[in-house]
Amino acid sequence: MANQNDLIRRLADDLLASESCVALTGAGISVESGIPPFRGKGGLWERFDPMEVAHIDSFLRDPARVWDLLLREMHSLLSTARPNAAHLGLARLEKAGILSTVITQNVDGLHQAAGSTDVIEFHGNFAWQRCMECEKTYSTPEVDLSTIPPLCACGGILRPECVFFGEAIPEHELARSFQLAARCGLMLVVGTSAVVQPSASLPQVARQHGALVVEINREPTHLTGSVAHYSLLGRAGDLVGAVASLVEQGRG
Ligand code: NAD
Ligand code: ZN
Repeated sequence: MANQNDLIRRLADDLLASESCVALTGAGISVESGIPPFRGKGGLWERFDPMEVAHIDSFLRDPARVWDLLLREMHSLLSTARPNAAHLGLARLEKAGILSTVITQNVDGLHQAAGSTDVIEFHGNFAWQRCMECEKTYSTPEVDLSTIPPLCACGGILRPECVFFGEAIPEHELARSFQLAARCGLMLVVGTSAVVQPSASLPQVARQHGALVVEINREPTHLTGSVAHYSLLGRAGDLVGAVASLVEQGRG
């Protein structure tokens, strides 16, 4: 079995050799920035079922409860979170002319903060809140949380511009992601358990269309040993950072 340094080298070589690479990222890439994932150790599911709390029906039934359990914490976590070595590593791969696009399931804005310029936010983002009555949008830091749920000047309830479970993926983001998956030569999947549909099928679509699929995750997922041609197991920051350095040397 190949050791981890061999796999890091192999991934750097595959990235250098590939004509078109995209990354698919999930909550795991932001764990080292202090944002807990939904599943896995330390995940929110240890306290409640995110599928239930982050479902649009729950929000519509009781917005104050969802703001209290989930959104208030996200508001505070995301206000201070900074990109880690994995976000920065993907931005370095773009700068090196290797990676074209990051498709992310995350709503934290950390890829853009790290310098990636083409980010598809598959599940929207938390940077904006929208009034459910008049559609006015507010940047998240300006939203006053002394009343829960927070309210628009018109009295309507504010909701994040994120896709809740049970809601449709924005059409343009959906179409573009599936096109990129079908056309890329290499898909690098980082920090996702790949169980939330439809983003979970992107690696499979890439593989079916002939792309090399490589996974980086702290633990094996159902992509490991099946959809992924090979997997690097460990912390995203260490691994993506090491791969980016090798690619930069290869380009230099
Ligand atoms: P997930 O919570 O289902 O899975 C996270 C994965 O990351 C797990 O497989 C875990 O093993 C792995 N992981 C954890 N720490 C890691 C590390 N340091 N390095 C590498 N891998 C690590 O996340 P998901 O598949 O993205 O799906 C959950 C949904 O919840 C997504 O839609 C996402 O938008 C949303 N979400 C977003 C954020 C965020 O914006 N940061 C946070 C939590 C959940
Ligand atoms: Zn309003």
